[in-house]
Amino acid sequence: MRSVHTWVFAGRPRRLRVLITICVLAALTLPLAVGAAQVDGIRADGALTAGALVALSVINVEIGRILDGGLKQSHRPHKALSAWAFAAALLLPAWWLVPIVATTYAHARWRGLRLQLWKWVGSAAYVTLAALAAQATAAAVGGSGTGGFSSGPGALLAVSSAAAVFLVVETALFHGSAYLNDADDEVWLRRILRGPSFYTTEAAVLLVGGLSAAVLALNPWLLPLLLPAYGLAQQAALNEPLQQEARTDPKTGLYRYESWRRQALAAQERCTARHRPWSVVFADIDQFKPYNDTWGHLAGDAALVAVADLLRGELRSHDLVGRFGGEEFCMFLPDTASTEAAEVAGRLRAAVEALPLPDTQAHITMSLGVVSTDSGEGELLNAVRNADKALYVAKERGRNAVHVLALEPETPAVAAPAASRRRTRSESPGRSSAA
Ligand code: GH3
Ligand code: MG
Ligand code: MG
Repeated sequence: MRSVHTWVFAGRPRRLRVLITICVLAALTLPLAVGAAQVDGIRADGALTAGALVALSVINVEIGRILDGGLKQSHRPHKALSAWAFAAALLLPAWWLVPIVATTYAHARWRGLRLQLWKWVGSAAYVTLAALAAQATAAAVGGSGTGGFSSGPGALLAVSSAAAVFLVVETALFHGSAYLNDADDEVWLRRILRGPSFYTTEAAVLLVGGLSAAVLALNPWLLPLLLPAYGLAQQAALNEPLQQEARTDPKTGLYRYESWRRQALAAQERCTARHRPWSVVFADIDQFKPYNDTWGHLAGDAALVAVADLLRGELRSHDLVGRFGGEEFCMFLPDTASTEAAEVAGRLRAAVEALPLPDTQAHITMSLGVVSTDSGEGELLNAVRNADKALYVAKERGRNAVHVLALEPETPAVAAPAASRRRTRSESPGRSSAA
C-alpha cells in the first residue's frame, strides 16, 4: 500500500525537491521576464485568446470525463493539457502561460485527477517551461510568433520544430522527476516513459494544440470543427492503459499467456532466422495448495507476486516472463543455449527457495522444466509442450528441481508416446527428495 508520506512534498528525496522547486520558481518568473520583453505581443485580444484556450481545455477535460465514465483516478495518461500551453506559446506573450497553465491544471484536478498535489504542481511547471522553450524555437525558426502565423511553408516548420522542442524539454523534466523520486512512488510514470505510446500520444496532442492555435488565429468560429479531434486524441490516450490491462495479469503484472505467446513467437522467429539458440522455461510453485491452506489465500497471492517479481528481477530485460495461469509461469529466453538456460533455471530455483515470503516469512520451492534449441531450429508451440513435460519430470523427481530437454522436431502425435520423443540433456542440481 502507498504510504502517506508520498503525498507530502517534504517527505520526498531532496534531489527531487530541488528539481521541482527550481522548475516551479523558473515557471513563475521566466514567463514574466520573457513576456515583458515581448512588447509587440501585448495585444488587447490576448485575453480573448487566453479565454478561448482555457475554454477549449475545459471542454476537452469534460469530453475525457464522459469517455472515462466520470471516474476519479490517480493516473491517466493526460488530459491533453500540454495542447493549450503549446497553443498559448504560439499565439500569446510568454507571461500568459502562467495563468493559462494554472487555470487548466486547476480545472483538470478539480474534475477528477487524484494525484499528489506536488506532482501536479511539478507537472504544470514542466509544461510551462516546455512551452517557453517551444516559443523560443518558433520565434527562432520564424513563421510563427506571439502574434500568429506567417503564410507559406515556414509556419509548418516553425510549429513542428516548436512541438519537437516542447516534447524534448517536457520528456527530460518528467524523466528527472521519475528517476529522482523513489522507484515505488513512480512505477506508473517510469513505465509509461519507457513505452512509445506516451511520446506518440503527446506528439499528437501538441499537434492538435498547434492546429487549434492556427484556427484561433485564422477564425475562432471554426474551432468547433476541432471537437472530434479532441475526442479522438482522448480516446487514443485512454487506449494505452486498456491495452496494457489486456496484455498483463493484474495480480502479478506479468504477461498473460496469450500476450506472452505472441511476443515469444516473434522473438523465436527472430532467433531462428539468425540461427541463434533460444529456450523456453516452464515453472510451477511446489505444494502451493498446502501453502494457501496453511496461510490463507491472501498470503498465497502475496507469495505469487513475490515470485513473479523475483523472476522478472533475475532475468534480463528482454527475456519474456508470463503467468501461464494459477501458480505456473512461462519464460522465453532469446539467444540462450541449453547450458546457459539450465544455469538460469537453477539460479531461479535456488532464489525462490531462499526467498522469505511476505506476510509469513515462510519459504516455498519451485520446479522448472527447460527446453532449448542450440541451433535455433524449432517451433515455439512444440517447445512449450516439451517445457511443460520437462516440468512434470521435475515434479516426478521430487520437486524443487530443474529438468532440461533438448527440443526435437515435432513428430506426428500418434507416432510415439511422449516419453520416447524426449531426450534428457542434463538434470538439475536441485534438491530432490524423491529422485
Ligand atoms: P504441485 O507441487 O504438484 O504443483 O502442488 P500444488 O499444490 O502447487 O498444485 P495444485 O495444482 O494441486 O494446486 C495449485 C494451487 O495453486 C491451488 C490454488 O489454490 C493455487 N492458486 C492458483 N492460483 C492462485 C492465485 O491466484 N492465488 C492463490 N492464493 N492461489 C492460487
Ligand atoms: Mg504447483
Ligand atoms: Mg500448477
